[in-house]
Amino acid sequence: MKDFIDAHCHLADDRIASNLAEEITEAKKVGITHFISSALCQKEIEWHQNSSFPGMFWSAGIHPYYDESVEQDFEMMIKLCNAKEIIAIGEIGLDNRKDNFDWQKKILLMQLDLAKNYDLPVVFHTVKQYYELEKILKNNFPKVRGFLHAFNASQEIFEKFKKYDLGFSLNAKTPKDEVILAIIKHGFYFFETDAPYMRPRVLNENFNHLKNLIWIVKQISQKTNTNLEILKERQFNNFCDMFG
Ligand SMILES: [Zn+2]
Repeated sequence: MKDFIDAHCHLADDRIASNLAEEITEAKKVGITHFISSALCQKEIEWHQNSSFPGMFWSAGIHPYYDESVEQDFEMMIKLCNAKEIIAIGEIGLDNRKDNFDWQKKILLMQLDLAKNYDLPVVFHTVKQYYELEKILKNNFPKVRGFLHAFNASQEIFEKFKKYDLGFSLNAKTPKDEVILAIIKHGFYFFETDAPYMRPRVLNENFNHLKNLIWIVKQISQKTNTNLEILKERQFNNFCDMFG
């Protein structure tokens, strides 16, 4: 059966983890059965190792912005790759809200190399550094595969990245309508909540919930005039193609 997959969320975040059973039950009620959760630090890696349930997949990465992501986590990531515990490397990338570009770039290159060695997809986190990221990929990892989480950049950036084996993952903070349309037409897309982050403001909740994935996909369905079932089938097939 083809279900909805939340391509990016943070199950280990206290706001979700403290009420996990209800979060999952509410999501399943509306047809969301698979979750790709992102571990950002040692503590979250351990949470994922101890909290698995059917439908939960997870990735781990040294984040360019999150304070508790540290370089020392790299040793742990090698172990996770060897043990085949994670399905992707990430979220990793570049973030211009911090002034430590050299460190960010070094860590990114190390992790892209890890993904290549273990043939794992990559989940990218990028804030206002898409051109820099594209340069790095073009020069070092043109065959990288994975997806750009929380994609909300311009048409021009979309055109640059669509040449790679990278999908575009959309959440409540969508790009301009013309870019959403181009992504849906292109076909290589995912949907994500990024819960508990990125709450849809009009829903007036304290934080984002897993069940809100449906709200996000409905918005995209309306904006692109595309049947919800078509979006559902495509994101599911993209998930299977990428993760087997
Ligand atoms: Zn995230």
